[in-house]
Amino acid sequence: MKYNTMSDAIKSKVIGVDVRVARTTLAVVDQRGNILATDSFPTTDYPDVNNFLTILSERIVMIAENNGGFENIRSVGISAPSSNYMTGCIENAGNIPWKGIIPLAAMLRDRIGLAVALGNDAHITALGEHVYGAAHGMQNFIVVSLGHGGLGSCLFCNGIPHLGTNGSAGEMGHTCIVDGGRLCNCGSRGCLEAYVADRGIVQTAKEMMDETGQATMMHEAKELSPKAIAECCKKGDELAIEVFRRTGEILGLGLANVASILDPEAIILADEPTEVFKWLIGPTKDSFDRHVFQNIKDKVKLVVSELKSDERDVLGAAALAWTVKEYSLFK
Ligand SMILES: [Zn+2]
Repeated sequence: MKYNTMSDAIKSKVIGVDVRVARTTLAVVDQRGNILATDSFPTTDYPDVNNFLTILSERIVMIAENNGGFENIRSVGISAPSSNYMTGCIENAGNIPWKGIIPLAAMLRDRIGLAVALGNDAHITALGEHVYGAAHGMQNFIVVSLGHGGLGSCLFCNGIPHLGTNGSAGEMGHTCIVDGGRLCNCGSRGCLEAYVADRGIVQTAKEMMDETGQATMMHEAKELSPKAIAECCKKGDELAIEVFRRTGEILGLGLANVASILDPEAIILADEPTEVFKWLIGPTKDSFDRHVFQNIKDKVKLVVSELKSDERDVLGAAALAWTVKEYSLFK
């Protein structure tokens, strides 16, 4: 078999793209998962998706040309909020400005002439953990991303992500944990996310400050955030510690319900800063142990991810890029 023309050459690299609310990061990644180069730009500068795609295409071509040539890039994988792998579309995103259904994968493919796969951010985080992190070698596990963007989750069954009938599986953040409870961003009431993601933790802190009138350093925080509350915990602030106790109680209950249904090897918690997990993980484990089906208690591992989230997500997006069929206008 001849192996000397451009079209027959094995393409040895992919590009991983991580689209977040504030910044978009892209990286050239080789077959072994080495990041060869990265670039980034503010997502917020491009409220029109067409302008976003123009700059993204330019940056992809530039980074490829500077790292072995565009002709060696096999495909592109993208991580973005509210995305659906099955349709290649961003679907009704709540926290980025491109509204409605955006066929991002097809739009980028048409601009750069390479195969493009799109996955939602929770799916990509789980892929990153599976290939490079705490879930390496596991067949059945759940990755829960917790933080600024809410609560995302993705479950792997028998080594592959379970995407559901419509590509929307894993919305653990919008399972109801308090009937008639807090109003969630999704429009429903009492969702898990409304209590345990960043906004929920801050709301709990504010409610507790109002209810108890107890002295707390949280009053002095310039802007109350889970990180600022963790800082108060470090200084021995009882009320701040109680905020994470209440949050952990609810998170442990939510995770236990899912673990009892699925019996996974592990649940991996990702994305909150280490100092937040330091205060949240103990109460979460206590609650999890009390609520999970007792035959699997002590068997399901509850662990905190040790990967750097920005690196993990471009690597996860690169792992997704290897799964799509190659595309060329000329084949
Ligand atoms: Zn919700």
